[in-house]
Amino acid sequence: MKFSELELDPKVLQAVEEAGYETPTPIQAQAIPEALKGRDVLGIAQTGTGKTASFTLPMISLLAKGRARARMPRSLILCPTRELAAQVAENFEIYGKYHKLTMALLIGGVSFKDQDKLIDRGVDVLIATPGRLLDHFERGKLMLTGVQVMVVDEADRMLDMGFIPDIERIFSLTPFTRQTLFFSATMPPEITRLTEQFLHNPIRIEV
Ligand code: AMP
Repeated sequence: MKFSELELDPKVLQAVEEAGYETPTPIQAQAIPEALKGRDVLGIAQTGTGKTASFTLPMISLLAKGRARARMPRSLILCPTRELAAQVAENFEIYGKYHKLTMALLIGGVSFKDQDKLIDRGVDVLIATPGRLLDHFERGKLMLTGVQVMVVDEADRMLDMGFIPDIERIFSLTPFTRQTLFFSATMPPEITRLTEQFLHNPIRIEV
């Protein structure tokens, strides 16, 4: 299997080839075609399997096809920690370098001011930790009703950190019709319940 067989956006494909990737990893080969079709994905995969590209590559391809809606973020990536969110944002920039997509990294430990500015200007993608995302929402800065694709990364770590109520709240603030790409290294009962509640007929991919 080659990346060129995955029907990614041509400019995403170019960025991936320039990053030096030759072959999609198993999670990429299985998740990307389903995500591009609009299907919900439940990916059971550890760090190091290439899971980040398995959701960022289709997300950028889908965003490139769609049209921006006035100022509202069209996609959302939730990560358990600031470090992971920053890493996902870095990947997003590499794979999205030929697209004029705008992004806001919403993590704690930095002032609200710069994040507010980005949100006010209007962004395509939010990459966030749950607490800071909800802080912005409570402050009336953020609408999630335009979110078409939502990613939950490392859900089991979110569980360990006590974020499940936040995740449920965030799901409920996005449209029912959103597409969800959900990743977890393990599937404890609380995570299974969450996926049963919020994912719609997902394809389950375990690597
Ligand atoms: P992840 O599991 O998403 O944290 O990715 C682990 C590492 O593998 C990252 O440094 C990626 O840049 C790299 N990577 C992801 N997909 C591929 C691929 N298809 N070929 C080569 N390296 C990759």
